[in-house]
Amino acid sequence: MRRNRRVKLVATIGPASESPEMLEKLFEAGVDVFRINMSHASHELAGQLHERVREISARRKHPIGILGDLQGPKFRLGEFEGERVTVAQGSEFVFDRDEKKLGTAKRVFLPHPQIFEAVEPGHTLLLDDGKLRMRVTKAGADRIVAEVQVGGPLASRKGISLPDTLLPISPLTEKDHKDLQFLLGIGVDWIALSFVQRGQDVEEAREIIGDRAAIMVKVEKPQAIDDLNAIISSADGFMVARGDLGVEMPIEKVPGLQKKITRKARAAGKPVVVATQMLESMITSPVPTRAEVSDVATAVFEGADAVMLSAESAVGKYPIEAIRMMDRIADEVESDKGYEAILYAWQTEPLPTPADAIAAAAHAIADTVQLAAIVCYTATGSTALRVARERPGLPVIGLTPIPSTAHRLAVVWGLHSVILEDDPSSVTDMVNQACRIAFDEGFVKAGEGILVTGGVPLGQSGTTNMIRIAFIDENGEPVASS
Ligand code: PGA
Ligand code: MN
Repeated sequence: MRRNRRVKLVATIGPASESPEMLEKLFEAGVDVFRINMSHASHELAGQLHERVREISARRKHPIGILGDLQGPKFRLGEFEGERVTVAQGSEFVFDRDEKKLGTAKRVFLPHPQIFEAVEPGHTLLLDDGKLRMRVTKAGADRIVAEVQVGGPLASRKGISLPDTLLPISPLTEKDHKDLQFLLGIGVDWIALSFVQRGQDVEEAREIIGDRAAIMVKVEKPQAIDDLNAIISSADGFMVARGDLGVEMPIEKVPGLQKKITRKARAAGKPVVVATQMLESMITSPVPTRAEVSDVATAVFEGADAVMLSAESAVGKYPIEAIRMMDRIADEVESDKGYEAILYAWQTEPLPTPADAIAAAAHAIADTVQLAAIVCYTATGSTALRVARERPGLPVIGLTPIPSTAHRLAVVWGLHSVILEDDPSSVTDMVNQACRIAFDEGFVKAGEGILVTGGVPLGQSGTTNMIRIAFIDENGEPVASS
């Protein structure tokens, strides 16, 4: 089965989409990667969802990615007396370590010692997704005093964010460690890390994860923006997590940051997912707003690898319609006359490496000869990623004997992966097999040509050093002269 779209679609699974039937319908409507949100899913449910998606993927012979998203250190206030209190603007508010006393309009217990260690006078505190705002006036080991700049109602366990404070915490909480072990055990393809602050956080997670899953950093903290280069070089992929990013940073900065993160991820040749509120109104309405359609289109024009649905597919009334809508927007943008010019405006030079030279040459040759597809043999996925980085205007097929590589690549722009049953035994075999698969999967017709990249000696990873061009006959075989 082939899809024509090059940008990929990620859908979050939730009560509105978790049945096997709904998952299959969503896949048919265009989902390439399913996201399991560990803020909400139990281990039992996550295990079931994983099995359901794998079953569809195997039966439909189409690699589908699974992203396990860890909750991360989301800080919460303690309990208040009654249903809620109202904090007045201009008043003084205290956070303390007094767990026994219920909170009032003047104080509350804050169950996170790390915050007391790190916060300083002048820092901003945002409560309940940024609805209330305070400024720290005194910071002590067991007492933080703040001036209320924007007041309002507060209830038990609402979130607190500290946009100015670099917190001495790893992005993996105790719950995350347990969830991570579980997700690695069932074998998800990607692990998403929430509230990452530094490149070093990624390195720490990598020590646990190893190569058992690829790591996607959710960029949602100002500290992560400050350390963006280190984060880009240490992670495998990124999510522009606009929900929390728009709480922790002034909301008007989010579009520019989306562009910055997308651009840097593209330059690094690592996938980037634009997420949150993309078709928010479709949680309750079968038709999105014009502004939402435009937002999805913008991410596609920018050359993001994927766009994501959150509540729309997890708890919304119209998950399938929302995926279909994204699919239609993507199709329209990718066939727009202005698309390539905008896409290539962000193209960066290849690195001086054999892999990049092959990728850039493959793109140039395919354009000059007007080939129908680029077929890459790839073990770890790295060659396919370098070719996708080129954003070539024709389909890229990644052939790999390693299922987890194919599943991981499901999130990558323009890549259609196929899991090989047998490794090719010679270069001739390699070209024959590439022609056969491109033909059978509907990417090339008799008379058209494909470009094949691979490595000789065969079966050794990191050796991509070969380009072949083959034209295809009516049986899906290379014509003799090629
Ligand atoms: P979340 O992450 O849905 O897990 O909060 C995405 C975001 O913050 O945008
Ligand atoms: Mn978030």
